[in-house]
Amino acid sequence: MTNRLRHIPSVEKVLQALGPAELPRPLVTALTRRELGRLRDLEAIPPFEEVVESVRQAARVFARGRIQPVINATGIVIHTNLGRSPLPTPALKVMQEVGAHYSNLEFDLESGERGTRASYLEHCLALLCESPAAAVVNNCAAALVLALHHFTRRRREVVISRGELVQIGGGFRVPEILEASGAVLREVGTTNRTTLRDYEEALGENTGLILKVHRSNFFMGGFVESPRREELGALARGRGIPFLEDLGSGAVARTERLGLPHEPTPAEVLRSGAGLVCFSGDKLFGGPQAGILAGGSDLIEGLKKDPFYRAVRCDKLILSALQTVAEMYLTTPEGIPPLPVLEMLRASPAELRGRAERLALALQGLAAKVRTVETKGQPGGGTLPEAELDSIALEVVPEMIRLEELSERMRRNAPPVIGCIQGGAYRLDLRTVFPEEDELVREALAGALA
Ligand SMILES: *Cc1c(COP(=O)(O)O)cnc(C)c1O
Repeated sequence: MTNRLRHIPSVEKVLQALGPAELPRPLVTALTRRELGRLRDLEAIPPFEEVVESVRQAARVFARGRIQPVINATGIVIHTNLGRSPLPTPALKVMQEVGAHYSNLEFDLESGERGTRASYLEHCLALLCESPAAAVVNNCAAALVLALHHFTRRRREVVISRGELVQIGGGFRVPEILEASGAVLREVGTTNRTTLRDYEEALGENTGLILKVHRSNFFMGGFVESPRREELGALARGRGIPFLEDLGSGAVARTERLGLPHEPTPAEVLRSGAGLVCFSGDKLFGGPQAGILAGGSDLIEGLKKDPFYRAVRCDKLILSALQTVAEMYLTTPEGIPPLPVLEMLRASPAELRGRAERLALALQGLAAKVRTVETKGQPGGGTLPEAELDSIALEVVPEMIRLEELSERMRRNAPPVIGCIQGGAYRLDLRTVFPEEDELVREALAGALA
């Protein structure tokens, strides 16, 4: 051992100097070992106090990686990086009750024998989608893989328009998911135009499925054509080929009622010709992460009998939350159920302005210019890409620190506050901040600017 390395303190000594940590002890020990290991590559070993401080800092950074609530002030309602839909209180209550006890998950209370998982929920979802049957899996990607795998077991080809071979989100590309599920991709048409004829010519004895993917995180304008769903549906039925439409966000509530462009509902898509639809549980639907499939009984039954279904089925907590959300829709048939995502989408600029102005007033006298500005929010989550939500933000221009520093201090707050830097200012869009979080935002700003 060289002289230099002898100055590296022992793990025990550093742990002792750190004192009580907020992380489990084995994590702190492992972090300490890692940090001490790094010292070996340095020219000179820093003083002991500095070493302890760097371990403490590493532990803080590491602890921030724990999943925890944050305040979303980005104005993006369905924010995939921030956990998509916040759940409504009744759903959380059911998760708590079902999670803490035994449940009739797969037990028939009538007969006292083994029952079927989620049959009540499937009935509710089928009603909401106005379809004969429905099924639930872990997420919409799983619903797609299950359907592709199942319908292309014997006839390998899945026919899809080139205009729909898109990337939906981080690491989710339609062509890759198709190939991963073992299907053979049969692309038709061009990026901007696909005709019924293109589909007709591609269908053959190897076609297992026709897939349509709803354009989500982008939209195409100009010289664009694709066949109407009615035509494609009739073609599929005529040839006896299943036709699945991936709706992605799947709005069950009528989005016009929220002041947004029309988003096709599962019922409407099934009515106009698709045999099967799939959509996410935690986008516009406003529930927990899930993939909902709805359509004809034979198709749904086939999917549920596929051995692969067992690998993508949901657990009891998700099923209980989804059951509650489905019931909330059913009990407000014409209206908008009180789901956080829908309420945030619906919040009016006037309402948001009142809150922003109260906050701006309460923040007078700090080392910053604070004012309310008009801004644009987004539904997010690959939903309604052309929609912009008129929103109100609190705009902060700090006098003593840089914008990046302010943004970082807000992220370091407990709870962390996520805003954005835009047009030379730090912005907090109040649309996605729960009204009861306003006071926490005020405290965070006051602390960050002090
Ligand atoms: C978001 C999305 C998916 C993926 O849904 P997950 O529930 O996240 O798996 C699939 N298809 C479309 C069109 C989407 O918008």
